[in-house]
Amino acid sequence: MQATTKLIHSIPVDALTGSVSVPIYQTSTFVQEAPGVHKGYDYARTNNPTRAVLESVIAGLENGSTGIAFGSGLAAIDAVIKLLKTGDEVLAVDDIYGGAFRLFTHIYNKFGIKVNYVDTTDVENVFHAISPKTKLIWIETLTNPTLKISDIAAIAKIARSRGCLLCVDNTFASPALQQPLSLGADIVVHSATKYLGGHSDLIAGLVVTKNEQLGEKIKFIQNASGAILAPFDSWLVIRGVETLSLRVKQHCINAQAVAEFLEQHPAVDKVYYPGLKTHLNHAVAKRQSTGFGGVVSFSLKNDTEEAAIRFVTSTGLFKLAESLGGVKSLLCHPSSMTHKSIPVEKRHAAGVADSLIRLSVGLEEVEDLIDDLEKALNGRRSTVDHRPTTAEIQN
Ligand SMILES: *Cc1c(COP(=O)(O)O)cnc(C)c1O
Repeated sequence: MQATTKLIHSIPVDALTGSVSVPIYQTSTFVQEAPGVHKGYDYARTNNPTRAVLESVIAGLENGSTGIAFGSGLAAIDAVIKLLKTGDEVLAVDDIYGGAFRLFTHIYNKFGIKVNYVDTTDVENVFHAISPKTKLIWIETLTNPTLKISDIAAIAKIARSRGCLLCVDNTFASPALQQPLSLGADIVVHSATKYLGGHSDLIAGLVVTKNEQLGEKIKFIQNASGAILAPFDSWLVIRGVETLSLRVKQHCINAQAVAEFLEQHPAVDKVYYPGLKTHLNHAVAKRQSTGFGGVVSFSLKNDTEEAAIRFVTSTGLFKLAESLGGVKSLLCHPSSMTHKSIPVEKRHAAGVADSLIRLSVGLEEVEDLIDDLEKALNGRRSTVDHRPTTAEIQN
């Protein structure tokens, strides 16, 4: 059976009523016949039937044994770090998601968990940076915003030989394009806020483990720490997942066309998209994933913050907002938004130029998206639903 068919039918029809849509069990507790005698559910932090469907669906999608749902992507990351103890070390990708960096630096550092950062696109770096204290390797592939790619299978081999766990933040690729557990990783985390939810209408996080013992440990942490995903939000993610393959396919087609358009435009300097042959890690991307995703980043020939701000306030279809993975196209200016807290030299070293712009290419007709970008690149404000100027607001 094809993956998409399997996915759609992994979402069960309700056994009790035949309801085609998964019921939302909006309850805090469950009646017991006698103490401890119940239908598998006693208290809704510990387990909820709607959340349980999502957890089983994502485990299937990622080819893992156990899925565990959290109130945000960061809560999912937090649960994985709680596997560690004081004195343990983490080896992490150097251009890690800013929220994960903040969590590691400002929360876990004070509990004596140290994180070392290396450029994991070069497997040699990973090999040499592992110490006897390293218990967890943390990679993102693709990374944000310059879409760097690390070789999951090669790093998994190193992790196994050195006795540490490998966790992959698979948010940017989504399981529709890449399944790290099949390539040897132990844990996958997601911000389901992005492609899995897919409609920019919720915050959610997921963890999937390859083996059941590790799954039990994360489930224990989920119940003990309590950052669970609510029943309605679980239902929204399930609904998003139903169209995941269809959406991601089109995100990839649109993003490829946008990247190729940008690459030949005279006002554009660099374009970052793994689907371009010019991308540094194009070959690895091609080997380990079935598509290149919906995010495209680029910098301008006029590499100034002013030029970038002018651009991001000129588009009409691409709306200025953080986040990605939704139906509507979004754009952001990392150096003044998502990456503002990173010192300027570090930002430049990571390839985040002053004029770098990140696009989350949505599901509009791609001709309209390119038209929108072309107008803005040529210095014209969009007439499609353009943002009001300050003067217009005051009038
Ligand atoms: C958004 C994001 C997160 C954090 O997820 P939230 O749902 O916002 O808490 C983690 N990792 C990556 C790669 C992300 O893009």
